Amino acid sequence: MSETKFKKLIAEKKLICPQCKQPIKTFDKFIEMTSSIWDGAGDSNHQVSGSKVTLICANSPCTWTERTEYWENYIQN
Ligand SMILES: [Zn+2]
Repeated sequence: MSETKFKKLIAEKKLICPQCKQPIKTFDKFIEMTSSIWDGAGDSNHQVSGSKVTLICANSPCTWTERTEYWENYIQN
């Protein structure tokens, strides 16, 4: 997940605030996490990646924000 794709999710109102049930309006400090794990058995090199973001509801008067790696949990289909 890149920041561009994440921005699109916000723009399409796919993320829902658990407190007021309105679409989350904004976010901050998006980072992509990548780590390589050497399994010691040859040339295989597994990539583990995820992303962390501060979700900010911003629907007044709701003040919900959360710093999370599990933002997928807030996607509503
Ligand atoms: Zn809210």
